[in-house]
Amino acid sequence: MIETAFQIPIHDWNIVGHEHAINTLRRALLAQRVRHAYLFTGPEHIGKALLAQRFAQTLLCTGGGDAHDAPQNPCNACLSCRKIMHGNHPDVHYISRPPEKQFILIEQVRALQADAARKTLEGRRNIFIIQGMHEMNVQAANCLLKTLEEPEPDVVLLLTAPDPGLLLPTILSRVQQVPMQLLTTKQIKFALEDRWHVEPDEANLIAALAAGRMGWAVQAIEDEDMLVERQAQLETLAKLSTAGKVQRFDMAQRLSADSDKLHGILELWLLWWRDMVLAANDCLDLIVNVDMLGIIQSQAAKVGAVESQRMVRAILGTMEALDQNVNARVALEVLMLDLPMVR
Ligand SMILES: [Zn+2]
Repeated sequence: MIETAFQIPIHDWNIVGHEHAINTLRRALLAQRVRHAYLFTGPEHIGKALLAQRFAQTLLCTGGGDAHDAPQNPCNACLSCRKIMHGNHPDVHYISRPPEKQFILIEQVRALQADAARKTLEGRRNIFIIQGMHEMNVQAANCLLKTLEEPEPDVVLLLTAPDPGLLLPTILSRVQQVPMQLLTTKQIKFALEDRWHVEPDEANLIAALAAGRMGWAVQAIEDEDMLVERQAQLETLAKLSTAGKVQRFDMAQRLSADSDKLHGILELWLLWWRDMVLAANDCLDLIVNVDMLGIIQSQAAKVGAVESQRMVRAILGTMEALDQNVNARVALEVLMLDLPMVR
């Protein structure tokens, strides 16, 4: 393979980008100074859970030369690696918010502590991957603190969260933070063509839409409906700008009824209005929704930069309100009234 700037350099980790984060972990492995708790941070779909999983693989990999020490890279071939990749290694435990609950609960942390007190079944270590640590309620987080303060010698906790600021300072002070950055559009495009054999035009579009998140890009190529649905959502949004109040309130009601999809739709809208700001300022090369450039340009010319910026703020405000459990329908109705009228 030809050496290029975008080649995956530490290919045993089988991760696109994130060299800095991987090297932090490899240094700890090399020095045999693996900490008891790590916190991977970065936006959704950036690959936090994947990196945690690869680290778990490396910690338990039996493909290296020494049975007692972890290698610096996972071999991806030994039984232990394969079990972790399939999510069925008995010493790797996954904790996340149950779909029907609002938080990760104290019962889940107590179960973790019971598991942590037991001997490992197969591997050198007992690994707990807590996905979405910011979704743990205070009671549960305080309970987890006990494990962070006095961990069993073989326990490693791998936490993920979008932002360290969302966690209690007492938790933060006991974990090593591993911040993960967005990839560049070029890195994603290259990986899509090189590793997933996506055609250049499609790779261009997906890489732009992924906005730095490789996980999103992979989801988009694996799930064809995702792009089709995106197109439909954006067309609806474009039409809303010319719609009257009745249609807008009707939309608010329909959207609020589907709380699972709501966050994704608002993110889509946010990118759309960010594109409108860019188009109104003639920064066309930064636009994400490249396949809808024509309609974005024509609407931006009518709405203007100031109004578009106001919409970006309004959508962010709506997302924040929803996070704080404001009535979704009311929040969306307010947003619908904010939406500029395009004639
Ligand atoms: Zn292995």
